[in-house]
Amino acid sequence: MLDASLAEVDPELAELVEGERRRQLGTLDLVASENVPPRAVLDAQGSVLTAKYADGYPGDRHYDLCEWVDGVETLAIERAKSLFGAEHANVQPYSGSSANMAVLDALCEPGGTVLGWDFEHGGHPTQYLSGTFAGRHYRTASYGVRRDDRLVDMDQVASLVEQLRPKVVFAGWSCYSRWLDFRLFRQICDSVGSYLVVDMAHFAGLVAAGEHPDPVPYADACTMTVHKTLGGARGGTIICREDLAERVDAAVFPGTQGCPLPHVIAAKAVTFLLAASDAFRERIARTVEGARAIAAVLVEAEGRTASPVVTAGTDVHQLTVDLGPSGRLAGDVWARLNRVGISANAMRLAYDVAEAPAGSGLRFGAAALATRGLDAADFSEVGDILADVLDGSFDSAGAASEKALARRVQALLERFPIYRYR
Ligand SMILES: *Cc1c(COP(=O)(O)O)cnc(C)c1O
Repeated sequence: MLDASLAEVDPELAELVEGERRRQLGTLDLVASENVPPRAVLDAQGSVLTAKYADGYPGDRHYDLCEWVDGVETLAIERAKSLFGAEHANVQPYSGSSANMAVLDALCEPGGTVLGWDFEHGGHPTQYLSGTFAGRHYRTASYGVRRDDRLVDMDQVASLVEQLRPKVVFAGWSCYSRWLDFRLFRQICDSVGSYLVVDMAHFAGLVAAGEHPDPVPYADACTMTVHKTLGGARGGTIICREDLAERVDAAVFPGTQGCPLPHVIAAKAVTFLLAASDAFRERIARTVEGARAIAAVLVEAEGRTASPVVTAGTDVHQLTVDLGPSGRLAGDVWARLNRVGISANAMRLAYDVAEAPAGSGLRFGAAALATRGLDAADFSEVGDILADVLDGSFDSAGAASEKALARRVQALLERFPIYRYR
């Protein structure tokens, strides 16, 4: 039993995994949070390290014989610190959500006040929303984007901070297309002594590659995922100032987690190594260029799609389209995207005109496709395909044009295969 492969032991499950592998090969992945982890990451994450218990931190474990996993975790910590120029790193958080939970546990007593970025305005629920750890254990409030230009409302941030004097202010988003002014966030936080936590779950890869303003000099702590634009291990990481290190570490373990996942920490170490390379920087530059190329095509096509690009473009790896003026619902267009072989996200937007839960927003990200190898010209072709899907006249053209678009998607996928090693 120990040496038999998954296919031998559990063909039913193996078939599901293989089905998902083929789905990934055959889908043009525009989900902004997804990526294509390299084989080295999959190898580390599937390694024997999964068997080891190692509660605690390198050199200070509750289990014996941890020298190898100490080596693994120390590598991951040192690489994370050097990649981001951070004073301290904790690589144990199981996910971006657990990283946010731990940071709150470290910086704020239960019942304290926390200010987060509103979910429908592009923020993440774990920063403040009722029903999450944050919303249940803290007094929370949220800020959002302005109605006129859909940029984050820094006046609102300032007035909420002045009024509520929060212990923690989160800056960071899941769905937003422009850079943030971390210096201004810092100034506002300093006016009342709030901690600034930058939740860079989405844009950590851009920060690592120097393609995004660096939050590290301004933030007390930054939380991130390692699997979104960083493109690697499935999990979270926290970096922070040295004087908060002890509190952050205690909040991760034993505060909110048990034993770390040594195999995932190994995969994070590989991810941080790769993210320090020229190839990674080139890829992230191409990612941002790709998102811009898609946005440019969709801005050009607004006449026929009646679906403006929110903020008329992007500085980052993703962009959002507002179907509101077209009168169509994101859910309907989403289904059509799936039929031609594209995956993306349908979501409610700030000030959404639609009643439906999926709202009027479609979010497109370029990270996974840039990892696959697409360049700016290829991303323009992706934009052209999206413009055709969003075109109002598409409804009457029907199945024939869907077939033609599916063929164009297929042509792109065949030019940029993934996981050739199998
Ligand atoms: C994705 C995300 C998270 C949560 O990360 P998970 O690993 O999915 O738990 C937290 N904050 C932001 C801003 C995110 O985009």
